[in-house]
Amino acid sequence: MSEHTEVFIIGAGAAGLMCAITAGQRGRKVILVDHANRIGKKILMSGGGHCNFTNLSVGATNYLSANRHFAKSALARYTPENFIELVDKYQIAYHEKEAGQLFCDGSSKQIVALLAEECHAAHVDIHTQCSIISCKKEGDIFHIESNQGNFSAESLIIATGGLSIPSLGASGFGYELGQQFGHSLQNTRPGLVPLTLTGRTHEPFSGLAGVSIGSAETHFNKQHFRAGLLFTHRGLSGPAILQISSFWQEGKALEIDLLPELDVYAYLRQLKMEKPQSFLKSILSEILPNRLAQAMCDLYWHNQPLATYPDLELASIAQKLQQWSILPSGTEGYRKAEVTLGGINTAELSSSSMESRIVPGLYFIGEVVDVTGWLGGYNFQWAWASGSAAGNHA
Ligand code: FAD
Repeated sequence: MSEHTEVFIIGAGAAGLMCAITAGQRGRKVILVDHANRIGKKILMSGGGHCNFTNLSVGATNYLSANRHFAKSALARYTPENFIELVDKYQIAYHEKEAGQLFCDGSSKQIVALLAEECHAAHVDIHTQCSIISCKKEGDIFHIESNQGNFSAESLIIATGGLSIPSLGASGFGYELGQQFGHSLQNTRPGLVPLTLTGRTHEPFSGLAGVSIGSAETHFNKQHFRAGLLFTHRGLSGPAILQISSFWQEGKALEIDLLPELDVYAYLRQLKMEKPQSFLKSILSEILPNRLAQAMCDLYWHNQPLATYPDLELASIAQKLQQWSILPSGTEGYRKAEVTLGGINTAELSSSSMESRIVPGLYFIGEVVDVTGWLGGYNFQWAWASGSAAGNHA
């Protein structure tokens, strides 16, 4: 015997929950399952516990995908304002942190509670600790075998997310199931992830763990991000690094402007006139964290009074600080990555409904799809938008 439903959703994260709510509100009979012991675990962890649930300015340019246009349709139909309406309905207080990034004043738990309540109101049947054994399609019907019994469904929605943070329930299930049904994958790799330094690149900075810069600008290819930067025990982190990590390619150097708000050359020339006897190290300590200034000085320059540096040398010091080239050895991997780049090939999905072009009735939503947002609430907005797109169609 198997329990029949109209919509069967695997994965009760941001995308699966939104899809369940939307389909349930349309009167569809919905079963939502997750192998974890509770729903929305990643939401609970997100935004440092305050869930950066959306961004006020969302566009396809804020996403990485082999098809830069794919996300447009879903994002246009379910906007940040739509989610803010929900947040307001539950009187959840929030604030804008960096430009456009909306965070809960209180806990991320409020967002999970909101989604759970909406699921309840839409009569969604939720099963946690439900492990899927197999899925197949016979005729128009999907048959799902699980440790909680067998199910049959008209629509099967895969919302199992990416590979990031396995301890929160991440698995490669969605990719494997996609391949089983004939879908291809864009290569997966960790995104929004700290970068590591090793050997001689790391040595001069190995004592800087915990040192941070409020504003640095990271550059790779034509992409650049201005935000905070943090030295860690293993390398570099902070928003400016996480952002550029999604674009960075192994074996290539990054460029970092450690002082993007300052014309360092002009500054050094002026100080050479005003304080000619001041030593370089102490001058740099005024514009950079002390330990970083020391490390840069020890590595690259002799520490002398400013008056002794010809302008040409000051220009080269300024250039080093504003176009610092550093070769990461790798990333901290899925254990520390906020997202997984790549995933189910968007060429095989409808951009308006997320339905498979290969297997009618099969849908992929959220992070399992080859659409990955920048840091700043874009990933949840994609989860809400793609979940809503499928929920309106399935
Ligand atoms: P997930 O939220 O990962 O949900 C997938 C669900 O599927 C999980 O519940 C999982 O248990 C379940 N599952 C997996 N495999 C199986 C299986 N085999 N059987 C059954 N169930 C399965 N984004 C933002 O926009 N703002 C933030 O503030 C933010 N902070 C983050 C902080 C951290 C630490 C991390 C790791 C990520 C953060 N992100 C943030 C990214 C964001 O959490 C994800 O992009 C988003 O959760 C993806 O939603 P999803 O529903 O596709 O996948």
